[in-house]
Amino acid sequence: MSALTVAAPAKLNLYLHVTGRRPDGYHTLDSLVAFAGIQDMIRVEESRGLTLDIEGPFKDDVPHGEENIVLQAALALREKLEAPMGAKITLVKRLPVASGLGGGSADAAATLSALMQLWKDAPADDELMALALKLGADVPVCLAGQACFVGGIGEELTPAPKLPESWVVLVNPGVPLSTPTVFAAREGDFSRPNRFDYAPADGAELAAILAERTNDLHVSALTMAPVIGDVLKALKDRPGCRLARMSGSGATCFALFDTADAAIQTTMALDKDHPGWWVKTGSLICDTGTLSRPAP
Ligand code: ATP
Repeated sequence: MSALTVAAPAKLNLYLHVTGRRPDGYHTLDSLVAFAGIQDMIRVEESRGLTLDIEGPFKDDVPHGEENIVLQAALALREKLEAPMGAKITLVKRLPVASGLGGGSADAAATLSALMQLWKDAPADDELMALALKLGADVPVCLAGQACFVGGIGEELTPAPKLPESWVVLVNPGVPLSTPTVFAAREGDFSRPNRFDYAPADGAELAAILAERTNDLHVSALTMAPVIGDVLKALKDRPGCRLARMSGSGATCFALFDTADAAIQTTMALDKDHPGWWVKTGSLICDTGTLSRPAP
């Protein structure tokens, strides 16, 4: 294989409970993570050196060079595999940056997956997951590519029950929020983990389950970016909206719909009423297929 492309889908925290803080300062979470069919792309081609080109609407918002998590992932994998392999990597940056969609983590996971296939070599599973966690707390779940309950600081993954077919509208009002700053501003008690172990029958049941849970970062993000309140109101007012909530540390919010039509109508209406907002539709994805192993 001399070239291949791997999708890096947006991560959605369907709920996010902050359950504690470790002595080293990292917060522990209980979150249900799924994905949306709205994504960055990673393309890798055989090459002697290791290079990164960036394209796409948000290419100017990410660092170019070794500060980019894509090159960090490639360098970390190459070091682990102890072989001087190269690749020409292209990142198509379509997801807004510092937006709670874990775009950087998705890019890192897609890079690892693409390079393992290009280089026809892979670390052992536990080493791969340790490498992923070192790159970022969301990289393991993005690499697993399955809807999961995520615990610890991102390393404990438990596959979620099957989720009903749903459509997602993502809205980002264009205010970048730094994840550590939002966590630092969080006040109040820690929440309990609150998992469920049965497959919701339909969108209404999923929404009812999620409504009993929260995004614990909502209040601090809202204080920093009050426009999040406007985004959630605009989504909740739409016909067919089952649930609207902020993802991760914001400011992107998602809404769940049962039909593509309701989601597309919402996207068109919000695009018209709020031309400055980034608004996209895609399906809710429970298995992204990111973790592809090299063919034996
Ligand atoms: P999370 O929800 O995982 O905290 P996020 O969506 O809020 O993620 P990202 O878009 O992943 O945030 O960006 C976090 C930071 O990482 C940004 O400040 C950005 O400069 C840096 N970064 C480095 N490489 C990338 C990349 N490939 N894509 C996005 N951000 C990157």
